[in-house]
Amino acid sequence: MAAGENPSDSTLAAIISSSSYDAILSEKANLIRRAIYGNQIFLRGLIEITSYCKNNCYYCGLRAGNANTMRYRMSENEILHACNYGYSLGLRTFVLQGGEDPAYTDKAICSIIENIKKRHPDCAITLSLGEKEYNSYKSFYDAGADRYLLRHETADAEHYRFMHPENMSLEKRKECLFALKEIGFQVGSGLMVGAPKQTVDNIISDLRFLQQLSPDMIGIGPFMRHSSTPFASYENGSGELTVRLLALLRILFSHALLPSTTALFTLDGNWMPKALKSGANVIMPNLTPLKYRKKYELYDGKASLSLDSADNLKILVKKLESLGFVYAQTRGDVKR
Ligand code: SAM
Ligand code: SF4
Repeated sequence: MAAGENPSDSTLAAIISSSSYDAILSEKANLIRRAIYGNQIFLRGLIEITSYCKNNCYYCGLRAGNANTMRYRMSENEILHACNYGYSLGLRTFVLQGGEDPAYTDKAICSIIENIKKRHPDCAITLSLGEKEYNSYKSFYDAGADRYLLRHETADAEHYRFMHPENMSLEKRKECLFALKEIGFQVGSGLMVGAPKQTVDNIISDLRFLQQLSPDMIGIGPFMRHSSTPFASYENGSGELTVRLLALLRILFSHALLPSTTALFTLDGNWMPKALKSGANVIMPNLTPLKYRKKYELYDGKASLSLDSADNLKILVKKLESLGFVYAQTRGDVKR
């Protein structure tokens, strides 16, 4: 398979259902990433701004129905402080992520965006705050937000229904994604690898949907079990399959920004170097204040690549260098 090629469903099925780490596929992906992005790895400072959520996705520990979790909401000042700290470490993208929390009005979110941009005009702001109305997305964009992450999770309507309650729909999710594109955001989507009851055909549908959307960023990570959710009894997703899919995504979407995700890191830290050598080129270290971090528990045992001190950053940079990469102190926009 060559870069940009459009493989048949049967070729995709063979790659997806193979049961081992595919060194040839990974090397192909690695070469494509190097040709476009060189040896740079982009770091994004992740700030988990709220653990309140009005939704009830069956897989997620932040779901409204989970009474066994402690909730928090960061103030604008706390968010600005986290950005200042990240900036001092060289980070030039901040990702504001959270549950769908009505307490953050559009006005409040716009104020946060404007104040980050005032202090750090050379930085990109990525939002990951779920489904909103068109006019809300537009106001965030006009306030200065650059990118938006909204995974489609699964592109099969029936599978989507199995993973989400009645008041959520794949149709609405797709509508949001196309609205974000139309407004001008750099858009990220993605799927949950090994989600309960996922089939090979579901993953092929995911890839076909991504081809239709043509996103700038694609986030994939293994499903991870949370003991206080309806999906508590399902197995975690596979690291092997996640890495194989990352390689496949790099080949299909040569220019996309592909993170090596926290879920993959939680499954086993050893997958991160493999992911980076299979086409991933983004890491999202956590800048959420320590007092809140344990409360943002999407799944059991959620780990985080932490930058609580400059020493943590030095260790991460050394690790990247030992793998042949460099820490790019830039916004790391998509190259089209
Ligand atoms: N609420 C926003 C949303 O859903 O897009 C942003 C925050 S949400 C916690 C970010 C991502 O976490 C989701 O897109 C989902 O894929 C992932 N996530 C939630 N629960 C998970 C789980 N149990 N295992 C793996 N990923 C999970
Ligand atoms: Fe809320 Fe996002 Fe978790 Fe769904 S995945 S429950 S929308 S935080």
